[in-house]
Amino acid sequence: MSYASEHQRSLNEPEKFWADQASKIAWFKQPETILESLDDGTHRWFGDGELNSAYLALDYQIEQGRGEQTALIYDSPVTNTKKQYTYTELRDQVARFAGALTELGVGKGDGVIIYMPMVPEAGIAMLACARIGAVHSVVFGGFAPHELAIRINDSKPKVVLTASCGIEFTKVIEYKPLVDEAMNQAEHKPEKVVVLQRPQAKAQMQEGRDLDWYEVFNKAEPVGCTPMNSSDPLYIMYTSGTTGKPKGIVRDNGGHAVALHYALRNIYNMQAGDVWMGCSDVGWVVGHSFIMYGPLMGGCTTVFFEGKPVRTPDAGTFWRVVEEYKVNGMFAAPTAFRAIRKEDPEGEKFRQYDVSSLKHIFVAGEKLDSPTYHWLHEISQKPIYDHWWQTETGWPVTAPATALGATDIRVGSTNRAVPGYDVQVLDPMGTQLDANTNGGIAIKLPLPPGCAQTLWNDHERYLNSYLGEYPGYYHTGDGGYIDENGFVYIMGRTDDVINVSGHRLSTGEMEELVAKHPAIAECAVIGVHDALKGQVPVGLLLLKDGVDADHKALEAELVAMIREQIGAIACFNRAVVVDRLPKTRSGKILRAVLRKIANGEDYAMPSTIDDESILPEITEKMVEEGLAPDAVID
Ligand code: AMP
Repeated sequence: MSYASEHQRSLNEPEKFWADQASKIAWFKQPETILESLDDGTHRWFGDGELNSAYLALDYQIEQGRGEQTALIYDSPVTNTKKQYTYTELRDQVARFAGALTELGVGKGDGVIIYMPMVPEAGIAMLACARIGAVHSVVFGGFAPHELAIRINDSKPKVVLTASCGIEFTKVIEYKPLVDEAMNQAEHKPEKVVVLQRPQAKAQMQEGRDLDWYEVFNKAEPVGCTPMNSSDPLYIMYTSGTTGKPKGIVRDNGGHAVALHYALRNIYNMQAGDVWMGCSDVGWVVGHSFIMYGPLMGGCTTVFFEGKPVRTPDAGTFWRVVEEYKVNGMFAAPTAFRAIRKEDPEGEKFRQYDVSSLKHIFVAGEKLDSPTYHWLHEISQKPIYDHWWQTETGWPVTAPATALGATDIRVGSTNRAVPGYDVQVLDPMGTQLDANTNGGIAIKLPLPPGCAQTLWNDHERYLNSYLGEYPGYYHTGDGGYIDENGFVYIMGRTDDVINVSGHRLSTGEMEELVAKHPAIAECAVIGVHDALKGQVPVGLLLLKDGVDADHKALEAELVAMIREQIGAIACFNRAVVVDRLPKTRSGKILRAVLRKIANGEDYAMPSTIDDESILPEITEKMVEEGLAPDAVID
């Protein structure tokens, strides 16, 4: 079936379409009720189905004859460790660790926080929770104690699982003191902390509360899979909202399994036996969907990489992994390729490796600027697919359905709506806009299986944040447009749109243009307050290594370029070179903070920031350049 007819069918007959997809996974009890519309506008998929996500990822694969196939490849350049697990080995470890959790009193519906680096035990812990129906919440290992305490208070785990340390490039980060501090701060007190001692750091244990990972593991008996209702929660994943309180995105079991299976086969075109590399971390949604659950539920071999795109040890590290394990498909954020490009602009490192096994490269998480796209395409000669989704959706919303032959791309577009999603562009009144017209990007309800239908402990907030903006639609918070052929262009969060003299302009669009300049490695365009025009855009520029440009001349060139490409209406008159840009750990530029600095507003240190020292530095620079009055960090 072609992409167009499949997409159309998914919207015209969602129940039939998803019943077909659901029949492709191994339920304990096949669902008879496919879709229910609830009174509050949310939906439930496969309501009477029963299954177990760890069974699908492991036991079922073994039953299909994949017991001796490699399930997980752990490759850790930061510790010089490589280790592989067959499906049978991984299942045995998971079943036994599930037994250990059971002995600690963890059962169906209980919370477990996993605060761990990219070690296989983190993945084993996730699957062990899934096996017994416990609800895991993986908290990215770099989060500060305060953020961990917020998540402990919200998800009320019985047990916290952690490791003695994580490793960032060559730096050993001790985790245990952070967990101890979070436990002190939290009002909810988990009963036990299970600690994986790594050779790089030895954690101090607290008598009576802390337990050694392998001590509890070694004396545990393996346990089987607990049948779960389709809509029982599998995990909570906290993500930032517009307030300081993170949103606990809740993922179900049934919709998630069906959606990931569909995505793995149809979007990423991965078959059982293929090798897949999701370059992310189990602390993010990509790590859940496309390092752990998706590839394993699809019978693939998943690469579990503990390292960075550069300096572990160099910019060839991804390509080395591709060659070594004959990786067939990979997924990374554009920021990873920008980092690689900065250190290996001519692709010399790339050419040291044989990447002929690789079919294609997917990118998502932030805007893929066209210079990075062209560079990656030129050096790799592989199809580069931009695609778009969110923690909330859990799987791609717009993407090429490569297995359906929909491999067309438009540079700058995140491709077309995936079957199951009715993506539309709306004006502020909720009226659908014409092709090529900018507006709010929304998804007409029902959302397909896999997308979050609630927030942990806060269903009201879910309804207000996502379903309240446009009746009958899910509000994505992104702005952009769809062209006449259905290709979606994401221009950034709607709060990145600025208003200059009453004209709506996309800072993303300006960034795209500025990034084309040969001297620029990366940039952020933010709106700063202007008494006359409301807002005006300002570019903050990061130069490529080794570029020695006259800053004033460069600014003049960029001002002329934007004037030429967008017009004087853009009022782009300032572009300032900075040493570093503040980013989240997942590589997104913290534009909201930059905006606040520019507006002289107080701001709190964002919990997701990669390096706190950048903010005072950039504040000083912006004040010096006259782009901001004094700002206060609290
Ligand atoms: P997260 O939930 O952290 O994955 O962030 C989701 C947000 O990242 C989306 O709402 C978009 O603003 C942005 N995003 C994700 N993928 C893309 C992409 N391919 N192009 C542009 N923005 C993206």
